[in-house]
Amino acid sequence: MTNAELWLPDDDLDSEHREFAQRIREFATSKLAPYAREIDERQEFRREMVHDLAAANVLGGPLDADHGGAGWTPLQLAIAHEEIGAACGNARGFLAVQTGLVAQCIARFGNDAQRRRWLGPLIDGSAIGCFALTEPEAGSDVASMKTTAQATAEDRFSITGHKWWITNGGIADVMIVFASTDPEARHKGISAFLVTPNRPGLERAEMPGVDLGHRGSDHAELKFDGFEVTADEMLGERGNGFRVAMGGLAAGRLSVAAGAVGLHRAALAAAVEFTTTREQFGQPLSSFQMVQERLADHFTSLHCSRALVHRCAHRRAAGTENHADVALAKLQATEAGARACEDAVMLHGARGYSSAWPVERLWRDIQALRIYEGTSMIQKTILARMITSPAGQKGS
Ligand SMILES: Cc1cc2nc3c(=O)[nH]c(=O)nc-3n(C[C@H](O)[C@H](O)[C@H](O)COP(=O)(O)OP(=O)(O)OC[C@H]3O[C@@H](n4cnc5c(N)ncnc54)[C@H](O)[C@@H]3O)c2cc1C
Repeated sequence: MTNAELWLPDDDLDSEHREFAQRIREFATSKLAPYAREIDERQEFRREMVHDLAAANVLGGPLDADHGGAGWTPLQLAIAHEEIGAACGNARGFLAVQTGLVAQCIARFGNDAQRRRWLGPLIDGSAIGCFALTEPEAGSDVASMKTTAQATAEDRFSITGHKWWITNGGIADVMIVFASTDPEARHKGISAFLVTPNRPGLERAEMPGVDLGHRGSDHAELKFDGFEVTADEMLGERGNGFRVAMGGLAAGRLSVAAGAVGLHRAALAAAVEFTTTREQFGQPLSSFQMVQERLADHFTSLHCSRALVHRCAHRRAAGTENHADVALAKLQATEAGARACEDAVMLHGARGYSSAWPVERLWRDIQALRIYEGTSMIQKTILARMITSPAGQKGS
């Protein structure tokens, strides 16, 4: 038996948030964890996962009660993503897109009709959403987007272009699609559209190859060719799409950072469990100083990561957050988490190399968290810009 509560957040939370963490942990371990490995191995997106998240009132978590949500505080959001991330990376990734990117962007930038139509179904799981920003030639450099939405009449546009790596793209009932309505204006010419996919001019296909991690998720290519949309399907103002995208991503990065804390914690727990029970040279692995050093390092960095995630959540709640706060949390949590997952594989020896043990999945899953919603290098550019700019410019 290991002293598991040492790496849980509970001791640092007030009683209300501790009870919340325990409730979400109980849900994640009883409902999601039992099929987390199976959906990864079968490479299967499971609708049951959506129903389970909806039934636990998690899909509407951070949305205001006015929008049918549970009105979570930013700290509750972070706690939920840590707990769900520790149990099932696919469920957390789904939640980050469905709620963090799609529903929250509709709540923030949508008009009344768009909110009325989509928020309920996204919260009860009867509709699935996707956020289609990335293109083969436009990843980190969003403003270089090639997809266009050309005006064909006063109130009509025709979208042509290629999106890829879109989580839920193959199964979504509603899509936020970013396209340039004025390519000369670069990022100021991007607009966001909130559209349904089943009409002429859109082909959806699975991404080629086998994904490293998040194998129980849907990742698709979307090929638009003369896909007709109307002006009332625009999300926010014309030319405001870059703001919608960056607003969604900046908000979403907190959940990615918290999810990385969950993976880190799961890797540390598995490494402690294994090294305290496995014996070599007549003693448990955990009695060797080199092993102890690694466990102590990952225990320390886990607490550092969580502290930065919770700091960002507190600043968000207080309205004092700037872009650097979430960049700091995401950079630290994903990179430290990746190192913890890597060492968990190493400390399991050959067992770490096999899907019969838990840690290789954690290592595979955490790689994506270093890439999506802004790679680690992009987080560093945000931080560097802030610390080298004149005093007071905090990139908020
Ligand atoms: C599992 C998964 C799910 C995803 N889901 C979605 C989704 O739902 N919707 C969506 O739109 N996209 C999604 N993506 C795409 C993801 O957001 C992009 O992959 C990411 O933004 C990086 O873009 P890229 O792959 O084109 O890499 P690039 O931008 O080409 O970067 C390649 C490398 O160059 C580095 N680099 C780039 N620019 C700089 C710079 N200025 N300074 C230093 N280094 C730099 C990067 O850090 C990276 O290491 C997903 C990706 C994955 C893996």
